[in-house]
Amino acid sequence: MSERFISPSKSPPATPPTAPPAAAPDDGASAAASDDRVSMLSADRACTRCAFNLFGQPVVRERHYGLLIIRCPECGTVASLQEYPLLGRWANRWGALLAGLWFLLITAATLSVAGIIAGFTVGTTLQTSDRLVNAIKDAYIAHEAALGKAADQVSWWWITDMNWWNAQDRSKFIADAGGWMRAVRWRGFALWIMAGCILFPIAAAWSVMMAHRRGLRLVLTLLPMLGFALVFNLFSRFGVSTFTSVQDLAASLVWNVVMPLSLLCASVSLVAGVLLGRPLARLVVRAAMPPRLRVPLSWLWTCDGLPPPRTS
Ligand SMILES: [Zn+2]
Repeated sequence: MSERFISPSKSPPATPPTAPPAAAPDDGASAAASDDRVSMLSADRACTRCAFNLFGQPVVRERHYGLLIIRCPECGTVASLQEYPLLGRWANRWGALLAGLWFLLITAATLSVAGIIAGFTVGTTLQTSDRLVNAIKDAYIAHEAALGKAADQVSWWWITDMNWWNAQDRSKFIADAGGWMRAVRWRGFALWIMAGCILFPIAAAWSVMMAHRRGLRLVLTLLPMLGFALVFNLFSRFGVSTFTSVQDLAASLVWNVVMPLSLLCASVSLVAGVLLGRPLARLVVRAAMPPRLRVPLSWLWTCDGLPPPRTS
C-alpha cells in the first residue's frame, strides 16, 4: 500500500522500531491499546476481511515486530502497511544480476547459433565439392607423373607442392567440370535439412524470449547470428589455417557460391522458426495445460496483440 497519511506531529514515534516489546500482549484489544499511534489513514481502503472502509483509522506501530499496521475496528483484521523501500537495496542487486545473466544468455545463444551455421557451412562446402576433389587429384597426379613419379606413389590427398596449386587457374576446374551447375554436387545442400531441425527449434525458443518484438523487428534480431556466422565463415576460409588437403582445396573452389547459399538456407530456417515459434508455443500451452493454469502464460497471447486465452 502507498497510502497518504495525515501526520499528527513532526516528532518521530516514541518507540524505535527495534525496541523490544514492553509487555507481552495477550489479546487484540490490549495490543491495540499499547501500540503507538503514528498517523491516520486518509484514503479509502476496504478491510480485506469485512470490507469496512478503513478511512480515518489510526496507523499504529505494533509493539511485537515494530510494523506499521491498521487494525479494522469492525473485525480486528490487521492490514499491514509497507514502509519504503519495498525490497531494499537487494532489489537493485538482483535486478543487475538478472540483467547480466540475460545479456549472457542472449550473447551465448547468438554465438552458438552462429557456430552451428558456420559448422554446417564447412560441412556443405566439403559435401558439395567432391567432384572437384577428383578433378584436382587427377590434375595433380598428372603433374607429378610428368616429373617422373609413378602414379601410385603420389600423395594426392595432401597436396605437398603448393607452388603447383598456386599456379593453377581455379576457374578452369569449374569450367572443365561443366560449369557451376555440374561442378557443385548440389545434393550436399541436403545437410541443411538436418541443420534446419536444429536451427528451427532454437529460433522458435528465441521468439518466445523476444516476446517484446513482433514482425520485422523480431526477424531483425536474427541479424547478429547471421553476421557472426559470416565472420566465422570468413575466418575459416581466410584465417590462419594452412590445411592443404585436396578436400580443403576443392572446398575453397566452391566457397564463393556455397557459403552465401548456406547462409540463405540458415536464414530460411531461422526466419521460419521466429515467425512460427510463438504460434507453436500457444498451441503447446493450449494442448498441455488446463485453462486455469494458462493464466500465468497469457503474455504469450497478449505480446502478439491477441486476447488472453479463455480460462474456462
Ligand atoms: Zn474488517
